[in-house]
Amino acid sequence: MDALRKILREYWGYEEFRPLQAEAMQAALDERDSVVVLPTGGGKSLCFQVPALAMQGLAVVVSPLISLMTDQVDALLECGVPTACINSTLTVAERRRVADQVRAGELRLLYLSPERLTTPRTLEFLSEVPLAFFAIDEAHCISEWGHDFRPEYRALKVLKERFPAVAVHAYTATATPRVRDDIVRELGLADPAVLVGGFDRPNLLYRAQRRGDLRRQIRQVIERHPGESGLIYCMRRADVEELCAALVAEGLRAVPYHAGMPDAERRDNQRAFVEDRAEIVVATVAFGMGIDKPDVRYVIHAAAPKSLEAYQQECGRAGRDGLPAECWLFYSPADFQIWRKLQSNLPADAYEAALATLAGIENYCRGATCRHRALVEYFGEAWPGASCGACDACLDELDEMPDALVLAQKIVSCVVRLGEGYGGDYTAQVLIGSHDERIVSRRHDQLSTHGLLADFDKRQVRDWIEQLVAQGFLNKESEYRRLQLTATGRELLRGDGQPRLLQAAPPRTARAAKGDRRDPASWDGVDRRLFEALRQWRTTEAREREVPPYVIFGDATLRELARLRPTSYEALARVRGIGQHKLAAFGDAIIDLVVNYRRAQDVGTS
Ligand code: ADP
Ligand code: ZN
Repeated sequence: MDALRKILREYWGYEEFRPLQAEAMQAALDERDSVVVLPTGGGKSLCFQVPALAMQGLAVVVSPLISLMTDQVDALLECGVPTACINSTLTVAERRRVADQVRAGELRLLYLSPERLTTPRTLEFLSEVPLAFFAIDEAHCISEWGHDFRPEYRALKVLKERFPAVAVHAYTATATPRVRDDIVRELGLADPAVLVGGFDRPNLLYRAQRRGDLRRQIRQVIERHPGESGLIYCMRRADVEELCAALVAEGLRAVPYHAGMPDAERRDNQRAFVEDRAEIVVATVAFGMGIDKPDVRYVIHAAAPKSLEAYQQECGRAGRDGLPAECWLFYSPADFQIWRKLQSNLPADAYEAALATLAGIENYCRGATCRHRALVEYFGEAWPGASCGACDACLDELDEMPDALVLAQKIVSCVVRLGEGYGGDYTAQVLIGSHDERIVSRRHDQLSTHGLLADFDKRQVRDWIEQLVAQGFLNKESEYRRLQLTATGRELLRGDGQPRLLQAAPPRTARAAKGDRRDPASWDGVDRRLFEALRQWRTTEAREREVPPYVIFGDATLRELARLRPTSYEALARVRGIGQHKLAAFGDAIIDLVVNYRRAQDVGTS
C-alpha cells in the first residue's frame, strides 16, 4: 500500500485514495480477478493505472472507443507514465514502434480495442511478453442488459482461456446486479473480488421543474456558469437544431450534436467542446459515450428522458472532477405521453417493462422527495436518511402546500371510496368534481369525496397523486395502474404521516440561486482573475501539445493554484494534481505566470 501511495503522489500529485480505490488496487497486486463498480468520476482508471506502475510486466487495457483510449494515453503521458495504444489511426510504422517498445519492456500500459486484442495475431504477440494483468474498461459493454452492448466484448472470454495465470479486472459504472453477473460469467472470472461503490454523486445538485418558458429557464442556468462547459439534452433532432441556433443567436458558443448530422461535423463539434472552443453542446442522447471531459459544470434536460437509468447516465457527465455541478430537468407531462407512444410498438412484455421504467422517471420528476435519495433508492441502494443539501427538495426551493396532510387525506380517502379500482387521472377528476359522463354513469358524482378538491385544477391534483405515489402512500397496481393504499397510506387516514405536496407555482428559476450553498466552498479564497489567467494559459498550452486542456490540469488544480498563488517549486509540489512530471514540465511557466500576476496587481494597487 505504501508503494501505491507513493506512486499516487509522485505521478498524479494526489494524497488520498478515493473510496474503494485502495481495495481495487490491492486486488490487482494480489493478482485476483475483480469486478469494480464505481460511479462516474469515482476514479476507476487509477485503480489499474497505479498498480500497473507497481507491478512487473505489461498491463493491457481494453477500451471500447478510440477517443477514450487517446484521452487516457495522453493523460498518462503528461504524468510521465510510459503508455501507448494500438488502434486503426496508427500507421504501420507507428504500430511497429509500439510493438518494439512492448518487447523491450519499455511500456507500463498498452491500450487496445477488444476486436484488436482478440485477433490471433495479437494474442500470439502478447503470449511472448510478461503481463501484469488485463483491465477491461467500460465492462458493462459485455452485457445485453447494459445500455451500450458491444458484441466485440463477448470475444474477451478468450483471455481467461489463453492466459489462465493472468488476472482479469473489469471496471464499470453500471451497478445493476444482472449486468455484474453477466460480466463475471462472460469473462469467465474465477472467484473475483467484487467491489461496489456507492451510487450517489454528492457533488451534483439535482433539480426538476415543470417546463415553462424553456428559453428563459435554460438561459438562467447558463448565466450562472459564464464561460464554463455545459451540456443540454433535447428529445428530438429538430429541438436540438432550434435550441442551438437560438443560443448562438444570443452570442453563446454552442454546437449541435445528433445522429442525423454528418460524421465529420459531429466529430468536429465534439472536439470543439473537448478543447473548450465551444462551451455548450446541444444534443440528443446520441452524445456522450466517449466523452471523458471532467469539467462539465451543468447538464440540462430540456425534456424528460425515457428512464432514470438514462438520466443517471446523462447526468453522470457532469462534474467528473468532483467539483460541484448542476443537473436541471425541465419536464412536461406531455414528455411522458410521447415516450409511451414511441414505445407502443414494442412487444407486449418489453412494452410493460418500458412503462414501468417510464413510471420511475415520472415519479422522480413530479416527486417532492430528496432527488439524491430517489435516485439511489431506485438503483437499490439504501439512503442514510439525512438531507442531502444538494437538491431542490432539500434546499427548500419547492413550494410546499402548508396543509399537505389534510389534502393527502382527501386524496387517499377518495381512492378508498373508489374501491382502489381506478387510475390517477380518473381519481383526480372525481376529486375536482367533474361531471364527466363516465363519472356520472358510475354514480361516482354521488361519492362523499366527489368535488373535495374543487378549488384546484386537475393538473395540480394529478401531480399530488403522483407525489403520494413517489412517497409511498399510494401504489400503482402494475397491470392497469389502479391506485391502491399502502400501509403508510392507511395511516394517513388516521392522521399519521408527513406527506409533502407541492404547489404548482410557475417555475421560478431565479430563486434557485440560493441553492448555490455548496459551490462557494470550492471557490473559497480563489482569486478568480488569476484562475481565468491560468485557464487561458492552459488553453494555449493544450493547443500546442494537441491534447485536451484537462489533460494538462483539471479545474480543481487550477482553483487550488489560484487560491494558494504559489511562487516556489516547494509550494507547487504541494498542490493536488501536480505530480513530479508535471512539476518539471509546467512548474516554471506557472511560477512565471503567478509572479507576473502578483506584480501587476501590486502595481495596480500602489
Ligand atoms: P471514472 O473513470 O471512474 O469515471 P476517472 O478515473 O476518470 O473516473 O477519474 C475522475 C477524476 O478524478 C480524474 O480527473 C482523476 O484524475 C481524479 N481522481 C481519481 N482518483 C483520485 C484521487 N485518489 N484523488 C484525487 N483525484 C482523483
Ligand atoms: Zn436532497
